[in-house]
Amino acid sequence: MTDLQISRSVRPRPILDIAEQLGLQADEVSTFGINKAKISLRVLNRLKARPLGRYVLVTAINPTPLGEGKTTTSIGLAMGLSRLGKRAAVTLRQPSLGPVFGIKGGGTGGGRAQVLPMEEINLHFTGDAHAVAASHNLLSAFLDNHLFHGNECAFDIERIAWPRTMGVSDRALRQVMVGEKAQQHGSQFVITEASEIMAILALASSQVDLRQRLGRTMVGLKQSGAVGTAEELGCAGAMAVLLKDALLPNLVQTLEGTPAFVHAGPFGNIAHGNCSILSDAVALRCADYVVTEAGFGSDLGAEKFFNIKCRVSGFKPAAAVVVATLRALKLHGSGGVAKVGAPLPSGLTGPNMPALEKGFANLEQHIANARIHGIPVVVAVNAFKDDVPAELEWVRNRSREVGAIDAAVSTHWADGGRGAELLADAVVRAVEQPANFTHLYDVNWPIRKKIETIATKMYGAAGVSFEATADRQIDAAESLGFGRMPVCMAKTPLSLSHDPALKGRPTGFTVPIKELRILAGAGFVTAVCSGIQLMPGLPKKPAGERVDLDPVSGEIVGLS
Ligand code: ADP
Ligand code: MG
Repeated sequence: MTDLQISRSVRPRPILDIAEQLGLQADEVSTFGINKAKISLRVLNRLKARPLGRYVLVTAINPTPLGEGKTTTSIGLAMGLSRLGKRAAVTLRQPSLGPVFGIKGGGTGGGRAQVLPMEEINLHFTGDAHAVAASHNLLSAFLDNHLFHGNECAFDIERIAWPRTMGVSDRALRQVMVGEKAQQHGSQFVITEASEIMAILALASSQVDLRQRLGRTMVGLKQSGAVGTAEELGCAGAMAVLLKDALLPNLVQTLEGTPAFVHAGPFGNIAHGNCSILSDAVALRCADYVVTEAGFGSDLGAEKFFNIKCRVSGFKPAAAVVVATLRALKLHGSGGVAKVGAPLPSGLTGPNMPALEKGFANLEQHIANARIHGIPVVVAVNAFKDDVPAELEWVRNRSREVGAIDAAVSTHWADGGRGAELLADAVVRAVEQPANFTHLYDVNWPIRKKIETIATKMYGAAGVSFEATADRQIDAAESLGFGRMPVCMAKTPLSLSHDPALKGRPTGFTVPIKELRILAGAGFVTAVCSGIQLMPGLPKKPAGERVDLDPVSGEIVGLS
């Protein structure tokens, strides 16, 4: 059965029942149909004295096109915890239309480990991403209108820094010229999930905080060299109004009726890559175990979870789960490449200890990356049907030898929550271990030192080089007073390094930084590695080619 067929074969419970199971009151729940709801932030005040649940981060090895299964494992783990009698919830990012119609397909899990309603979550859902795009583009329109009507604030037209946004992958919009005659200037489109407004939505702790962050958003520099903001353009209030409902966490459920929050959708490679702080806050007040997924490998989404998201929220993770599969480790070990939809390269499915042993080095770095933040690590080996049992056992043992507190083989994809009970049990024990969560760097360090620390400690780099533009931008950011913010790296997810071709655990490389962007409202600076684009392109055969409406039933077909 396809994921869509499995998802349609399950009758969801009314969302009000799921909300009640979490202890939410009827007046805190606004339903969208019968399967989706938005949760009022009033609940945070009502439950402010309730102890927070255990916070478990799910991350992974560097992804390969074979699919490592972080979302699937996060959902499976929450279902497994529920089967062990725990009050559990999972918090996920909303999938982006870019990958849904591009390379990857949907982001709602797979097999027997999915969240419902799959089609809606993967498409327009409750409209949050559209609201983000509208809010972002309103500021673009206000800015260019301000220039058109005489540029009273005296913006330097050469130093306009506010891009436009679009919710699908469209490489033709990477560099554009906008404006009329004298006001004409270069601009860029970024995909909505990499928009600063999405980061603001994901990092805001309240409606007031959202409003203040929007006001601080930097649109460019003035001729005087001073920073120009959304507040000065008189746009921040209207932007907040457009985001009023988008700020509220969305509640859905897993195939087994476990509460699931799906809210905000930054990309792990080019944005900070984590779901909203508010959805985690509600989940942590309502559930005893909250499983959350960060984007891509621990070098990207998890690093930003630890050093951006947790720094802002103050929440401390109790453990990390690092997901790996035999086939992806072998791909890392053989230096091979795989393409989505193409037959698997040979040597990945049958026994292949040499490739597995070599590729394991990649997992080893990811275990170390979580441990350096002071928390226990459980390795989840996401089992595929053709996996060799002796190899699964080898990965479990080796993971413990290199510092994981435990490692469990999980069959949630095939078996649902039942298949994740061993993993859930390992996580329950891991969160009881003493943890001493710490950030990787002091936020007051100079920007270059923060970048170098991330690159050497999390990627295994020998060092960092800065292109002339980046050097200039870093100096400017520091002199404008933006030096004491966390750094959000924009890097390929496919390698620990900046070079997607370097598999396994490369050493001796120097990470080149081409650009530094100031996201004053989000509260971080983004360091962009050479070769990285903030607007993805579509592959030659986009996943969207398979998507259609069935002419007879009118139902969606081809979403995966
Ligand atoms: P990630 O969150 O790491 O990108 P997903 O959980 O979305 O990964 O999984 C990626 C793809 O791989 C999905 O299509 C999913 O159904 C598939 N997949 C994951 N685990 C398994 C498994 N054990 N067996 C078969 N397919 C799987
Ligand atoms: Mg995922």
